[in-house]
This record gives sequence, structure tokens and C-alpha cells, in this order.
Amino acid sequence: ATMPPLLSAIATAGRHGVLVKSAAAMERLGTADRIALDKTGTLTEGAPRVAEVLPLDGTAGDRALALAAAAELASEHPLARAVVAAARARGLDLPEAHAFASVPGRGVSARVDGHEVRVGSPAALIPGGCPEAETTEAAGRTAVAVTVDGTPAAVLAVDDRLRDGAPAAVAALTRLTGRAPTLLTGDNPRAARRVAAETGIRDVRAGLLPEDKVAAVRAWQRDGDTVLVVGDGVNDAPALAAAHTGIAMGHVGSDLAMESADAVVVRDEAAAVPAVVALSRRARRLVV
Ligand code: ADP
Ligand code: MG
Repeated sequence: ATMPPLLSAIATAGRHGVLVKSAAAMERLGTADRIALDKTGTLTEGAPRVAEVLPLDGTAGDRALALAAAAELASEHPLARAVVAAARARGLDLPEAHAFASVPGRGVSARVDGHEVRVGSPAALIPGGCPEAETTEAAGRTAVAVTVDGTPAAVLAVDDRLRDGAPAAVAALTRLTGRAPTLLTGDNPRAARRVAAETGIRDVRAGLLPEDKVAAVRAWQRDGDTVLVVGDGVNDAPALAAAHTGIAMGHVGSDLAMESADAVVVRDEAAAVPAVVALSRRARRLVV
């Protein structure tokens, strides 16, 4: 007997490096007429690097970095890994951290060396703003703020490379749905616009909290759109769950995102996303 089209599509998706969870999931993936892509870890490699440490208010850069890295040790966010890697690269000793807490889309906090350390988005941590964060974001980079006992201590300037094949994947998704995808990100508008420009996306929503991503999905659904969300982080999990269908980037992705999605990209390639959407659409035509 020949294999049913959806199972055969699941096998082919596997060869493209995408794990599709069920025949029903395989069928759903091709239904979308509206696609929302996360930025960090989805269009970018999700392997960000701290390019510069900009000390503030007389705190030594290395001290601020060590405190930040200690607080980030328990976080699985790609930015957290970048902060820890930067501290290790400088050979810094990381003090022990207690009372770790994380707020998806914002950052983390912990008690380190008797201090309350926070690491996260400048918008959340330095409400009045600061020139160091300004110039970092104006350059299309991600600014990560560090505060110690509520006082700004440093801005970390972070770079993340675009995935090879991200522009081609966006073009392929545009052809498949007849509509360019939207970029949804918690990062700052300028870093978002830079990635959008480099991948051919025009519709950009930046500075979003996880619940804002859900609100965007629900608004499209009220307009009658069938929505596919592609994301990697804990911050994307609610939107992945709210959407009709979802794909998680497995290479850098969080467990929560993978659990909330219909499919997981296990080979680290942007091209896998349009490939699995195309496979689903082909299989659906055969199923009828
Ligand atoms: P994205 O939607 O681009 O994947 P997130 O929603 O995960 O981004 O994060 C949004 C912003 O929140 C980041 O750009 C950063 O400023 C801040 N942030 C979130 N988690 C962390 C963390 N663990 N360390 C530092 N900053 C963080
Ligand atoms: Mg992400």
C-alpha cells in the first residue's frame, strides 16, 4: 500500500529537518494565510554576542558584567547566554546568585553579592533612557541594561547575525501565502527594522511583551485570517499556542516553545520553514 499523503509528508519533512508532531499538525501547517515571524532566534541565529560593555555611573565594566552574568546563569534566553559567555571570555569570577526571577520579554533579576541585580530591556530598567542605550539601538544593535540596587550600572551592546537563508525563506513564505510575513519582536524598534530591511519584511511590530504577540495574533484571527506563528522563545510560547498553527525553532528554542508548536525545526536552517509549509499544502491537495 502507498503511504497516506500526510504521513508521507511527515517523512519528507523529517528529511528537511522538521519534526511534525502528528498528521493533524501536518495538515494544519499549510492552512495559514498570515505568517508572523519572531526575530531573535528565528530570523537571526539566536547566538548573540556582547560586542561592547558600556559602563555607567562609575561602576567598573567588568564588575557590572560579572554581576549581570551571575544573574543570567539560570536563564535560558539567548541574550543570557551571550552575557555569561562575555564574562567567561574576560575570565571573570561569577559570584553566586540567589532568588532568581525572570519576566519573559523583559529580563531577569537576582540577588548577587548582597545586591539586587537586574538585567534586561532598557525600556523596562532605565525608563528615562540613557545615551549609551540610544547609540547602541541607533546602530541596530540590541541594548541590554544592567542595574544594581536600582541604579543603572552598564549597557551591553549585543549583535546577533541574520540566519543564512533568512531573506530567501521570507521570500518563499511570501510566495506561498501571497502576503509578506509580519515581524513580531520584543526587541527595540531599530534592531527590528534593521532585520526587517535585511529580510524584505515591511510590517514590523517591536517592543512587544509575550501577551502583545498574542493580542496581534487574536486581532488577525478576528479579521478572519488563519495565522501561523514561527518562534523560538519562552516569550513566543503563548502566541504559538494562540495561533491556528505554530513552528518552533528547535536549535535555540526553549522547551515551552517546542511544546506549544505543531512542528519543531531540528536542523538549523531557515529554509526548513517554507519547506514544511509547502509540503503541507501539497499533502492537503492530495488528501481531499
Ligand atoms: P524576541 O521577541 O526578539 O525574541 P524577547 O521577547 O525574548 O525578544 O526579549 C525582548 C527584550 O527583553 C530583549 O531584547 C531584551 O532587551 C529583554 N530581555 C528578555 N530576556 C532577557 C534576558 N534574559 N537577559 C537580558 N535581556 C532580556
Ligand atoms: Mg525569540
